[in-house]
Amino acid sequence: MEASFDCPGNYVSPTPSTLRCAKCERPLAVKDAVHTPTGYVCPYYVKARVATFYNATPLQHVLVFLLTLPLGMFTGLGLRLISSISFLAIIILMTAAPAAGAGIAEVVRRVFKRIRGQYFWLAAAVGVGLGAAVVVAGPLLALLAGRFPSLMSFLPLLGLGVLISALIARLR
Ligand SMILES: [Zn+2]
Repeated sequence: MEASFDCPGNYVSPTPSTLRCAKCERPLAVKDAVHTPTGYVCPYYVKARVATFYNATPLQHVLVFLLTLPLGMFTGLGLRLISSISFLAIIILMTAAPAAGAGIAEVVRRVFKRIRGQYFWLAAAVGVGLGAAVVVAGPLLALLAGRFPSLMSFLPLLGLGVLISALIARLR
């Protein structure tokens, strides 16, 4: 075992326990124990690790948003274009949308290289979502206004949902 590390936060087990945190050696309740490759640790150790792993500032999260906003607008146009291709649209969309989501995640990764943001996935999802909404939210607005657009006109929105979930999966 490595030299004992004092987990910040002074964890106190709510019940007497024979289990101990592998890092700070404080008694550790089974319900609070977090399993890691080096043994069970207290919740504070995990928090401390998460804090050192993510090094992005709030401003850098805003930059992720600003970077993904135009990308979202661009992909929104792409989704609309694909959706206009009659019956093949769904098949193409279900292939292109996850690829585009993964592509945008890759752009964010490359631009920010060693900077890791705990909420980059959220900033990117909101950026792409808002950027694309400008182009694809039409049918939704029509629905809110009490009109019923054709089902096909919702296709870009469906594609956007798939795209954003792929983006989040890659960035989280
Ligand atoms: Zn600990």
